[in-house]
Amino acid sequence: MSFDLVLFGGTGDLAWRKLMPALFQAFRHGSLPAGGRIIGVARDDLSDDAYRAFIKGRFDDVELAKRPHEDEFAGFAALLHFVRMDVTQAADYARLAELLKARNADTVVMYVATAPGLFTSVCEQIAAAGLNGPQTRVVLEKPLGHDLASNRAINETVRRVLTEKQVFRIDHYLGKPSVQNLFALRFGNALFEPLWRRENIANIQITISEDLGVEKRGAFYDHTGALRDMVQNHALQLLCAIGMEPPINAHADAIRDEKLKVLRALKPWTVETLQQHVVRGQYSAGTINGVAVPGYRQETGVAPHSQTETFVALRAEIANWRWAGVPFYIRTGKRLAARDARIVINFRPTPHAIFSTPAGAVNRLVINLQPKDGLELHLLAQGPDKRNQSRDKSANQNANPSTMQLAPVQLDLDFDKRFGSQRVGAYERLLLDVIEGRLNLFVRSDEQEEAWRWVEPILDHWRHDTHEPRPYAAGTWGPSAASAMIARDGYCWSEEC
Ligand code: NAP
Repeated sequence: MSFDLVLFGGTGDLAWRKLMPALFQAFRHGSLPAGGRIIGVARDDLSDDAYRAFIKGRFDDVELAKRPHEDEFAGFAALLHFVRMDVTQAADYARLAELLKARNADTVVMYVATAPGLFTSVCEQIAAAGLNGPQTRVVLEKPLGHDLASNRAINETVRRVLTEKQVFRIDHYLGKPSVQNLFALRFGNALFEPLWRRENIANIQITISEDLGVEKRGAFYDHTGALRDMVQNHALQLLCAIGMEPPINAHADAIRDEKLKVLRALKPWTVETLQQHVVRGQYSAGTINGVAVPGYRQETGVAPHSQTETFVALRAEIANWRWAGVPFYIRTGKRLAARDARIVINFRPTPHAIFSTPAGAVNRLVINLQPKDGLELHLLAQGPDKRNQSRDKSANQNANPSTMQLAPVQLDLDFDKRFGSQRVGAYERLLLDVIEGRLNLFVRSDEQEEAWRWVEPILDHWRHDTHEPRPYAAGTWGPSAASAMIARDGYCWSEEC
C-alpha cells in the first residue's frame, strides 16, 4: 500500500516533538508501510534536504532511546519532503496537488497541525484543490473549537467537504497503551463486568495532573484553560471508557455509539451543582521538586489579572441504570504535586464487618495511565499478628477469628515491565491507524459536540462568576475546596486516604 502523509505545520512544535519521533519509531519498528512519503508543509523556504536537516537537528531534543542512529536517519530521511506554502492561499495548493496527483498514492493523509484557526480553511482549500477524494484522510488536532457553537461550525464546514469516515479527530489519550488496556480490561475479561456497576462501586476518580506549568505556551493556555484543554476531551474520553456499555463489536462506530450514550447520560448542570460540584483553581507561586516556581499570573504570555483556570475538580454523574448515584470525580491541573494520570475505582465496603480493618480501607482498582502504566488491585488480607510476631504457623491458624487484623495489600501489574519496548506509543499507534484507515481511536463529531454541550454551562457560569479562581500553591494537589467537595459525599481523593 502506498501512502503520502502531508503534515501541515511540518516545522511546528507538535510536528518535531511528537509526530516525527512517532513516525520514526514506526519506521524503526518496520510498521510504516513501505513506499510512503512524509511531506512537511509550512511557509518557510526549505528544500527537501534543508527540511531533512531541520528534522534531524530537532531529534537532539528527543529522548535518547527514540533518537535515530546516523544510518537509521538516512533511511527515514528518504521519506521526507517539503512543500513551501501558505495554507491560507488557494494558489499555493496547486504545487501540493501536482506533487500528490503525480504519484496518486493509495492513501493520502492530511495531518492539520497548524493553529486551530486554520483548520476549516485548510479543509476547504483541500477540497477546492480537488484533494478530498476517497483516498484522502484528514487528521484534525485539538482543540476543535472553544465552545459548542465554534465546534459545530468547524464540524459543519468539515462535513461539507469530507465524509465522517475521512475525518480523524485526534485525542492522543485514546492512543495510549494504558487506555487500550482499559478497554482490554473491561471487554477482554469477564472478571470485572459483574462488579462494574452501582451496586458494587462507591465512586470513581479520574486524575490527570501535571507538575509542569504553562511553559512557553502561556498565551495559548490563557485563552484555553484546564476545562477546555483537558476535561472536554481527555478526561471525558476516560470517563466514557470507564462508563460505557460493552459495544457489540470492536468496530469504530460500535465503540463510538456507546461512548456517545455515556456523554448523553451525563447529568445536566443546575445552578446548585455548578456551585457545589465544580472547583476552579489557579496556581500561585510555590515549590516543585525543591525548586521555587512562579505563580500562573507571573508566567510569560499570561494576563496579569487572568481569571483562567489551571485546575478543575468536578463531580459528574451518569444517569442510567448502571451508574445512577455513583459520583465520577474528575480532577486535572497544572503545577500539581506530581505528574500523574490515573483512574481509581473505589468499591463499596463489605456490607457487614466481622474483622478489624484500617479506617477507610476498601477494595480499590487503580488504573495507572502515566507515568506508570499498569494496574493495582488493593485488597485486604490478614496482616502480621501483632500479639506475638514470633509465634509459629500452627498457633496462628488457631487464632480466634475475632482478633484478626486486616491490612491493605496490593496486586501490582506493571505493563512497562511486562511488555517493555514492544509497546507502541500513542502518536505512533494513532498515525499508523490513520494510514491504515482505522477510526476506533478517533472521536466522532457527535461525541465531541456532546462533550462541549456538557461543559458549556460551566464556562457560562464562570463567565458571570465574580469570584476569583481559588488559588493553590504550586506543588500541592490543588485548592482545599476540591477536598471539601469530595468530603461532602463522605469520600476523599485517593492520595488523601
Ligand atoms: P506551532 O509550533 O506554532 O507550529 C505551527 C506550524 O504551522 C508551523 O510549522 C508553522 O510554520 C505552520 N504555519 C503557521 N501558519 C501557517 C500558514 N499560514 N501556512 C502554512 N503553515 C503555517 O504550533 P504547534 O504547537 O505545533 O501546534 C499545532 C497544532 O497542534 C495546534 O492546533 C495545537 O493546538 C495542536 N496541539 C499542539 C500540541 C503541542 O504539544 N504542541 C499538543 C496538542 C495539540 P510557519 O510559521 O513557518 O509557516
